[in-house]
Formats: sequence, C-alpha cells, structure tokens
Amino acid sequence: MSSRMVTIAIVVQMAAVVATSAAIRGDEPPPEPATAMVLVAGNVWDGLADASLGPMEILVRDGRIAGMGRRVERPDGAPVVDLSGHTVMPGFIDCHVHVTMRPEDEGAIWAMSPADKAVLGVQALRILLDRGFTTVRDLCDMDFGGYTTVSLQRAVEKGLVAGPRMIVAAHLVSTSGGHGDARPLVAVQTPVTQNNLADGVDEIRRVVRTEVSRGSQWIKFGATGGFASPADDPAQVPYSQAEIDALVSAARDLGIPTTPHAYGDEGIRRSVMAGVRSVEHGSLASLETLRLMEARGVYLVPTQIAVVRFARLIDDDAFWQAVNEPPHVRAKYRRHAKAILESARNLSTCGVKVALGSDFGTFPLGQNNAAEFAELVANGLSVPRALRAGTSVAAELLMRDDIGVLAVGKTADIVAMPGDPFDDITVTERVDFVMQGGAVVRGGQ
Ligand SMILES: [Zn+2]
Repeated sequence: MSSRMVTIAIVVQMAAVVATSAAIRGDEPPPEPATAMVLVAGNVWDGLADASLGPMEILVRDGRIAGMGRRVERPDGAPVVDLSGHTVMPGFIDCHVHVTMRPEDEGAIWAMSPADKAVLGVQALRILLDRGFTTVRDLCDMDFGGYTTVSLQRAVEKGLVAGPRMIVAAHLVSTSGGHGDARPLVAVQTPVTQNNLADGVDEIRRVVRTEVSRGSQWIKFGATGGFASPADDPAQVPYSQAEIDALVSAARDLGIPTTPHAYGDEGIRRSVMAGVRSVEHGSLASLETLRLMEARGVYLVPTQIAVVRFARLIDDDAFWQAVNEPPHVRAKYRRHAKAILESARNLSTCGVKVALGSDFGTFPLGQNNAAEFAELVANGLSVPRALRAGTSVAAELLMRDDIGVLAVGKTADIVAMPGDPFDDITVTERVDFVMQGGAVVRGGQ
C-alpha cells in the first residue's frame, strides 16, 4: 500500500469516528462522504469477462461508478487510491450465509435470546464485509420465536450496523421431523414451539404468509433431509409435490421467490417442477436434473466448502477430528460421498447457472467463506465461472441489476486483492480493500 492509500484510510476512519459521535449526540447530520474518488487499479476484472482486463482507472461519484477506462477524469480534490499492485473486482456476494449461527452453538439454541443472536450477527457481518462480501443472502436463523435476521437486515440498511447489505429468508420452512425441526436437539419431554414447522398445504400457506409479513424477502424450505440434522437423511423427501407446489405458489402470489434446502435428487426435481428460483446445495443432483435446472433457468448454490469438501476428505481422519462433527454426520457423508463427488464433476459439464454460497455459520468463524471460489475451481468449474458465481450471477439470482458488475452507473461495491485470481484463485481470500456504495470500509493495512 502507498502512503497515499494509508492517508485516505486514516481520513475515512476519522470520518467514521466523527459520524459515530455525531450520531450519538444526535444534534448534527453525519458529514457528507467524499463525493468523488479515483481508484487506480493495476488490473481489473469486471464481473463478466473471461479474463482480466488489465490496468484501469475507476471514477466513483455519489456512491456509483461514474467512469471507467485507461484514464478517467480527476475532479478537483477527489482522492486518488493507489491499487496498482492489485486486482480490482465487484464486491463479492455470498448467496447462502447464516450470520447468527455458529457451529458450536447448535445444541444451545434454546438457551439464546434474539439479542444474543443479534450480537453474533453484528460480529459476523463485520467479518464478512472485511473479507469483501458487500451483499449476502441470509438463509435462515434458528431463532424460532423471533426474526433476528430481519432486524439485522434493517439495521444494516439504516447504517446502524456495518455489514454487507442483507437479503433475508428468516426461517427454514420445514415438515415436522424435517431438516428444520430442532426438537430432536432437546429431550423428548421438553415442550418447545417453533414458528417454522408446517405440514399440509394449509399450514404451509399460513407459515409462508406469516414469514413474508414479518419481513422475509425469500422463502427457504426443507425439500430434503440434511447431513447435520440428527434425525433425517439427505435423500429423504419430506414434502409431497402438492405441498411444494402450494408453498411456491403462495410465495409467488406475494411476489416472493423460493429456494429449497435440497440434497437428494428427488427433492431437487420436485422443487424445480414447482418453480423455485434457486436450489441450495443440490449435492446429489443427477446429470438429468442438472440439465432440467439449466433448461428452466434455475440457479444452483452448491455450497461446496460445506458439502463437497467433506465428501472429498471422507477418509481423512485428521480432518474429521478437526471439524469435530458428531458421528452421524460422517456416516451420512460416507453413504453419499461417491454420488456427491460425481454430481460436483457433472456440474462442470453442463451450463446450469452457479451462484456462490458458502453456508457460512455452519463452519468456524475463522474459516474464510471466500474459500468457496477455490473449492468450485478444485471441483472442476472454470475460473471465470467461479468468479461470476460470486459476482454477476449471484446478483442476477438476487434480482439486483445494480451490483455484481463493474460498469458505469452501477453501485460502487468494489474490492481489491494483491494478485490476479486468474493466476491464483485463492487470492480472493486475501481482499484488503473494500468499498461499499462508494464508501471505503476497509483499506490501508
Ligand atoms: Zn445453510
């Protein structure tokens, strides 16, 4: 980093301090952010191209990209940020996170209040932003009495909490005994209530409508069992076709897209037939089902660091000791490992739209969710397809045409990393400059 860069970082940090103290005093508005800034990039990838585009300058004005080219206009007084040793890309988008979840808390969910979960969420959002994720889709909370992730989404939108802008599906709508039934985590005599359980079309419609009225922008549902849940199997198909049809149409009538948690082929197929917008995991999808998804334009969010990695390392005792999962999890992976690896290979041979999702919240906080880029490449996806998964294709899935691409007029969500991801995809795990909506939120170290 140049000294100029350090100076800008200090100015930005000072502005943040001033903004915070003004907000506390409540007697004056926060200072206006710098209206214009020029980024001098050693290399640019725009979110779309099949290769890096080389050195370029980007003019940011009023939160948007106002110019891009070998040389851009330099308005009077506009700070210049030296990113000459860096590749500059659109801000990353993770389409599958759980900001209020931690793997070690699974058994303790009933002991946590919405406030406890909100604190975890604030911590996670800052970490995600620092890693270059400027937008995330949070796909459920285990807050079965409240809507903490909706509160967090609103807090980010208001500027009360620093973090990626959030798009939220509050809970996993699940059958009794399905992937979202957390009662097996407590003794059978313990009475618990959950706001996400729905059996039969009438209950499903009621729960969907309640979720939407409480602020869910997506509906996620459990179309198959899972690996982590103790009482089911990834190949099980708890919801009937009629139930999934009812869920998707109830959401569609409210203008809300749907996405299933789905590992097994039959659960994926039923969901695709019902008209879902995306599929989470999809890890046991047959080639035929992947082609059906491609034909129907359904996005796949394969969460490979949270699934394929486990199948790939099924015989690695040291790995399983380190991840510290209960024995039923490894047993299930052993049963399905071959099919998971075959399905991951098939993904690279068909054109289904892949959007990046990591399942952040199901692995330790210190593990960088940007490792999903490298995992996609390790399992056969081309580098541009993996990079598009976490930028332009993710934005398309989320119906946000203002992000995921660097072009004039787009929102200035911009990250930089010291190297070229086309030479080494793991450089995406070393982001050290982050701009969100035209404001520098990380940089200078
Ligand atoms: Zn998940």
